[in-house]
Amino acid sequence: MKTEFVDVLVIGAGPSGAVSASILHQKGINVKVVEKQKFPRFVIGESLIPRVMDNFEEAGFIEGILEKNFEKKFGARFLRGDEVCNFDFSQKFSKGWDWTWQLPRAEFDKTLTDILESRGVDIEFETGVENVVFNGTDSITTVSNAEGTKEIHAKFIIDSSGYGRVLPKLLNLDAPSSLEPMAAIFVHLKDQRRPEGVEGTLITFDVLTQKNWFWVIPFSNDISSLGLVAPKEYLESIDTGDNTKTFQNIIRQSDYYKERFDGLEFLFEPRKIVSYSAAVNKLYGPGYALTGNSAEFLDPVFSSGVCFATESGVLSAKLAARQIQGEIIDWKTEYEDYIMYGVNVFRSYVKTWYTGELQKLFFHPEVNEDIRRKICAVLAGYVWDKENPFVAKHDRAVQAVAHILP
Ligand code: FAD
Repeated sequence: MKTEFVDVLVIGAGPSGAVSASILHQKGINVKVVEKQKFPRFVIGESLIPRVMDNFEEAGFIEGILEKNFEKKFGARFLRGDEVCNFDFSQKFSKGWDWTWQLPRAEFDKTLTDILESRGVDIEFETGVENVVFNGTDSITTVSNAEGTKEIHAKFIIDSSGYGRVLPKLLNLDAPSSLEPMAAIFVHLKDQRRPEGVEGTLITFDVLTQKNWFWVIPFSNDISSLGLVAPKEYLESIDTGDNTKTFQNIIRQSDYYKERFDGLEFLFEPRKIVSYSAAVNKLYGPGYALTGNSAEFLDPVFSSGVCFATESGVLSAKLAARQIQGEIIDWKTEYEDYIMYGVNVFRSYVKTWYTGELQKLFFHPEVNEDIRRKICAVLAGYVWDKENPFVAKHDRAVQAVAHILP
């Protein structure tokens, strides 16, 4: 059997694996990426938040992404009937980026892998991991592709396999999610009636009921992404057996958007993801770290997925490089505790969104600018800034304010 030797093997070439590979390559580590699919490939997760920009900057990706003219995102709008709540990232409490992008992930993820390949990073597409055997921190990974099967010996593995969850499955690391099972159905369409100006490009979350919300994400190529997130049972209850028909009915539920989108042709049959929240009982082990969706995924409501994917991708790569160079790394403190802090901040916001408490703050006229700026910093992904009381007291700040509001 063909055999290869690398320092670090990265599984998966989504944003998490891409930033990891870039950081390792920058540090002179011999890194290889294996990716099961051929790029470009569809994946959901099209609304980014400003914290990702710090990670893309560190990985040296910003210039290359800018060349693609993806739609810039400066904030987000939430609607609930006639009520409107706008967040402008330039007004956020924490320091950091004031903007980011909203983009089709197929093209975006390919942009990142093209940049990596142009720098000489070895990415093998259409090559899936079948098995991994650890011996201490060393590992032998069996991969297969059209040419057959081979073994890759590595000193460290970064598992960025997203929904593939390679190591969680092989090592039984899955843990139950603490969130209610939710589901999503989504589609792309040619936005033929897109209005001129900001209204046409503004990313919007239309709150249909306390637990059901509809997203509109306009891209710079005149295509928009639409989706509904709702409890799993609700989606089952409106299922017509035909995803196209079901989604047409969903569009008509949005008073704000039905005229703009009703009757437009979908670019693919609407896709569904059911019970998407995922968790693990640890983020690292001897010779490996889990990053991005392979580790934890909460909920799309605050677009935190790519933020965690890149935050964990960058950090795991830096720590793996130091370990390869001979340092002893305290993965618990330096990796797991840090990443889980941010995940837990977002978890509190996701939970209070669906209880209705956070929505009360969003739409309440008496919530002052200071509180809005602090919540805006969380929505921008600055969930490690403990100077923000809405980060430091994430488990009670929203409830406390919601409780005293009339
Ligand atoms: P991915 O982007 O999934 O990449 C993983 C890669 O690993 C894939 O290319 C896959 O082919 C590869 N792979 C899998 N198995 C193997 C294997 N065995 N061998 C080799 N390669 C393998 N996030 C946001 O930030 N913003 C949003 O607006 C947003 N909306 C969402 C809406 C919904 C309905 C859902 C469910 C999620 C949403 N997310 C969003 C989350 C987002 O999809 C993920 O968090 C993000 O894509 C994670 O990136 P990643 O690099 O970890 O994984």
